[in-house]
Amino acid sequence: MSVRVRIAPSPTGNLHIGTARTALFNWLFARHHGGQFLLRIEDTDIERSKPEYVENILSGLQWLGLQWDEGPFFQTQRLHLYQAGIQKLLAKGLAYRSYETPEELEQLREAQRAQGLPPRYDNRHRHLTPEEEAKFIAEGRQPVIRFKIDDDREIRWQDMVRGEVVWQGKDLGGDMVIARASGQPLYNFVVVMDDIDMGITHVIRGEDHIGNTPKQILLYEALGAPVPKFGHTPLILNQQGAKLSKRDGATSVDEYRMMGYLPEAFNNYMLLLGWSPPDTRELYTLEEAIPVFDFDRINKAGARFDLDKLNWINSQYLHQKETKELLPLVLPFWQAAGYSIDQEGDREWLMAILDLIKPSMTVLKDAVGLASYFFTDLPDYKEAAKEILQQPQTKTVLQKAKEILETTPRLAAEQAKATIDGLGKELGLKKGAVMKPLRCALTGDVHGPDLLISLALLHQKHKALPRLHYALHL
Ligand code: GLU
Repeated sequence: MSVRVRIAPSPTGNLHIGTARTALFNWLFARHHGGQFLLRIEDTDIERSKPEYVENILSGLQWLGLQWDEGPFFQTQRLHLYQAGIQKLLAKGLAYRSYETPEELEQLREAQRAQGLPPRYDNRHRHLTPEEEAKFIAEGRQPVIRFKIDDDREIRWQDMVRGEVVWQGKDLGGDMVIARASGQPLYNFVVVMDDIDMGITHVIRGEDHIGNTPKQILLYEALGAPVPKFGHTPLILNQQGAKLSKRDGATSVDEYRMMGYLPEAFNNYMLLLGWSPPDTRELYTLEEAIPVFDFDRINKAGARFDLDKLNWINSQYLHQKETKELLPLVLPFWQAAGYSIDQEGDREWLMAILDLIKPSMTVLKDAVGLASYFFTDLPDYKEAAKEILQQPQTKTVLQKAKEILETTPRLAAEQAKATIDGLGKELGLKKGAVMKPLRCALTGDVHGPDLLISLALLHQKHKALPRLHYALHL
């Protein structure tokens, strides 16, 4: 039997990192087994589902390269299927119409609370007589559909992550609503209908769904369908060990994309969130992970989100990337920062800048700050740089450098070195005493990327002389 798995996000928010990680595990499992990975949008919650979230989920999965083989399927387009399922359960006597008013249910809950009992439905409308039912209908009550759950049932499954899991029917809250009075079918029911219809063999999802699984297993049995295998993956936690939330920082994939993380690095990081590789390597591309990925190496404990590790992985991928591949990824960040760029005409110059700053980058967005002095007319002079520019010796160095540049229209990095060396000798100054004022005048900072290359690149765009001039007149 070929493996068929799915990711089934609800479009009630942007693609969350937890959903993306579950998608990754499903995708890897499918690829490892030569199976199929399906995408299903669970949009039956009409009030909270939004088209922009659907868009965000699809584009996020595509950005990560987690391409699905079938779908996207939308539950709102499959309501006829769920109606048929409900009719089937009603006809078999495994589900029934239940007519309590919200007030009656609230009274029941209140009474349970008063006795310190957990909330549960007491199955009071399970055996209504036709007369009782007719009376409720005459009162204008709209029934929900409830699925019968027997208290004395024991439900067991062999979880792909957690091993044997056992639940008692009496802990499932009584007969479960599978469709609202409005006719809207509910999560546990539609998910099972769809997983049966789509031939899903393995349900791999977050541990927060573990309490739904016994209810779903009962529904499989009631619908006469084989029960798939279940695997509940550990939750993503914050550094304190609580569930990761918005307060801990970015939780949607989109936010990481906009900060300038690379999809391959983000996948690599998510892979290690909850899965241990068979060796000590930390860098795994998806292609490398496919043959070694299995559920024996999924951890049971929650996985702590570690931004430092994500940053380290991202910088590794970024530094390994060829500059010509990096350029189109960095350009949108430069453009968004308002740098005026001639992509075609300046290509070589831009590549040289990127070569220069690449080793200092952790995320793509770092290119904005690191390269800003190349794009502005004058750099943003930091206080420490201004101080150096005020020193008496500075003027001599800058004046001399200006004279040399005025007679040297083009300067390669090697020439820049010879020029600076010559300048030091002529003025009887150490290299540092020449470089520091020059760096401050040209870049506005006391630290930064290689100065000689910076000088050559700035001079090429006629940006070096005006800066020397400006600094000399500060
Ligand atoms: N729509 C559910 C969610 O987003 C899917 C759960 C499942 O995979 O069964 O959490």
